[in-house]
Amino acid sequence: MKFKSIKGTKDVLPDESHRWQFVEQTIRSVMHAFNYREIRTPVFEETAIFARSIGESTDIVGKEMYTFQDRSGTSLTLKPEMTASVIRAYIQHNLGEQQQLVKLYYLAPMFRQERPQAGRLRQFHQFGAEAIGSQLPVVDAENIALAAEIYRTFGMKNFSIRVNSVGCEICRPAYKQKLKNFLQKIFDKLSEESKRRFEQNPLRILDSKDENDRSLTASAPLMKDHLCAECEMHFEELKSVLTSLKIIFEVDGRIVRGLDYYTKTAYEIVSTDLGSQDALAGGGRYDVLVKELGGKNAPAVGFAAGIERLMMTMEKQHLFPDSSARPVFFIAAADDAGRRWAIQQAIEFRRHGISCDVDLLCRSLKAQMREAGRQAARYVIIAGEDELKQDQVKVKNMSSGEQTEARVSQLLAEAKRLHASP
Ligand code: AMP
Repeated sequence: MKFKSIKGTKDVLPDESHRWQFVEQTIRSVMHAFNYREIRTPVFEETAIFARSIGESTDIVGKEMYTFQDRSGTSLTLKPEMTASVIRAYIQHNLGEQQQLVKLYYLAPMFRQERPQAGRLRQFHQFGAEAIGSQLPVVDAENIALAAEIYRTFGMKNFSIRVNSVGCEICRPAYKQKLKNFLQKIFDKLSEESKRRFEQNPLRILDSKDENDRSLTASAPLMKDHLCAECEMHFEELKSVLTSLKIIFEVDGRIVRGLDYYTKTAYEIVSTDLGSQDALAGGGRYDVLVKELGGKNAPAVGFAAGIERLMMTMEKQHLFPDSSARPVFFIAAADDAGRRWAIQQAIEFRRHGISCDVDLLCRSLKAQMREAGRQAARYVIIAGEDELKQDQVKVKNMSSGEQTEARVSQLLAEAKRLHASP
């Protein structure tokens, strides 16, 4: 019987993993520059955390979660998104008591049982950043700037930032009713999916991908035009800070986000290089979630971004550096004495941070040279009993073919010099 990976999941093979490392390191360095600090939480949580926060009527909770009972009968769920889990940890460990504004970032796998297609997986990876403890629009602006800076750092083109306000518990109910009144008139012509959303989640009809739905709702009332004074002021200030930061954005009244907990700011970053699943990142403000999950009142804002979609876009725009992990040295042995020395020397090099490989399969010298070429090692060091006795090993530059000699006692210093050279 042959086993295969589960549909909608992917293996990252060694030829690709260096790209992941590059992407992850770059993201971390920008996050640190913005003074966001990393948080890691378990891959599963109590199911109720997600049901309570994301909302029972959302697609995620309604049909996409990987939920199971463990042996003691507790209902657990593999994280479909990170915010609820971060907030659970924030409350549990009283992070808000040490400082007023807590800025956290993460890189983690997420799980959703969606129909797999390009850019849509069942296990995918997100990076994201949450700023908890302030309602000021400048925090939203910094959070958006952080997301934008990550894409800018990669050299990404063809992406845009779309910003909206989805109001709050004061202004949204009246708007929701107004929207329902509008939708009622066109209800019969809406797609089945939108009809289903009418009762529970009418705002989501506005971000339907169905062309017919979109033209039917072209003149629908938008939340951003029905904000209360406080939400209106917040939105105006956010736009003003973004403009002063020279961040190019569009206001898009149709952005509502799929999750229930958003208030005021909602934003998306989309790429024209992604096809139908064009969202690179989504985020927004969630001022009541901390309280909802049992914490003190702590307004917050954050975003989540897909790593696979980022990498698909980078691939399309040729943004990956073409270096792959390859050893700097291959230590080839001409005989048994050489073999014993080679493995010791390799350990010594590695202890000094110099990457190298050595033959572990007792191959002939010719086969070892071939292997060094296959691994694209920059230099091959060749030694046998004679060379070791004379304290002179050969060092071959694999790109120029040039061969020099080095004393064994000086080899580490020479290796460090070659390692540091371009
Ligand atoms: P969401 O939490 O749904 O707003 O997702 C945030 C980001 O995660 C999206 O903009 C995508 O880049 C990514 N994402 C969401 N769902 C998937 C998925 N099933 N497969 C791959 N990436 C996803």
